[in-house]
Formats: sequence, structure tokens, C-alpha cells
Amino acid sequence: MQVHTSLGVICALSIKELFPNYNIWVLIFTGIAGNIIPDIDHLFNIFIYGRKTEYSKLVKKYLRSKELRNTFNFIKLNHKNNQSILSHNILTPIISYFLFNYFQSLYPPSLFALFFLSFTCHFLYDFIEDILFFKKPNPNWFFKYNFKIGEYRSPLNKKGD
Ligand SMILES: [Zn+2]
Repeated sequence: MQVHTSLGVICALSIKELFPNYNIWVLIFTGIAGNIIPDIDHLFNIFIYGRKTEYSKLVKKYLRSKELRNTFNFIKLNHKNNQSILSHNILTPIISYFLFNYFQSLYPPSLFALFFLSFTCHFLYDFIEDILFFKKPNPNWFFKYNFKIGEYRSPLNKKGD
């Protein structure tokens, strides 16, 4: 989350010259929104289309028992193993990059350019992070979604719990 917030700020600052008529805080807000919004799909996954996966059931179990800290720790430990997030595939950043180009080519450039630049950066970061973490991209990037992974690390034996 902090990484995506920072990336949003970096995107805003890196193309702020395109938007001389906008307040810097509007740009920063737009940059952060563009970088955070892609992960709303994690919520759609947990509560709608992936609600029956072991991962979603465990998240909801922690939520129901009001164990917020365990919920966050569980997500933090295991979200990389969730290979059923539909939006996280190679096509999304490609489309998003085209939208960035389109909106920045308008005269004057639309603020959506910043939004989609940041949106694209979100996916690039996630993709690179996967490679660093697993030494290869998760199969979901190539449309091979897996709704059946059954083993996840428990947050309960973390220090301090
Ligand atoms: Zn993501």
C-alpha cells in the first residue's frame, strides 16, 4: 500500500509540467488514486467472483471474528499467492498505457493521462515484484488463473500475536 501510494506521488511529480493549471495536490491525489484503484479488484475477488477460494474464505473468517490485525497480516503474507485476481494480467497495463497516450495527446492534456500512467505503473510494479519474489511472474499475468490454491501461511504465529 505504501509502495503504491509512493508510486502514485512519483507519477504525479514526474509529469506535473503537463498540467500547469492544476493544483499539485489535485495531481498527487489523482496519481495516488490511479495506483491504488487497481487493487480494488482484490475486494471483488474476495467478496464476489473468488469468494469460494480458500484464500477468500480465510480472509472472511478473520474479518468475521473481528481480527483485523490477523486479517491484514494474512493478506500481507499471502496475497502474492492469490493467482485469481482477474485484472492482474498483461493486457490491463497495455490498454492502460494506450489510454495514457491518448489522454496526454489531447490539447490540453486530460488529467486522465496522469491517472492511467499511474494505473500502468501499478501493474508494472506488481509484475516486477512477482519476478523478484517468485523468480518468475505469477500465472495470472498470462491469463492462467488458479482458484484452487489451498495452502496459505497463517498470521497467527507471528511475533506479538
Ligand atoms: Zn496490484
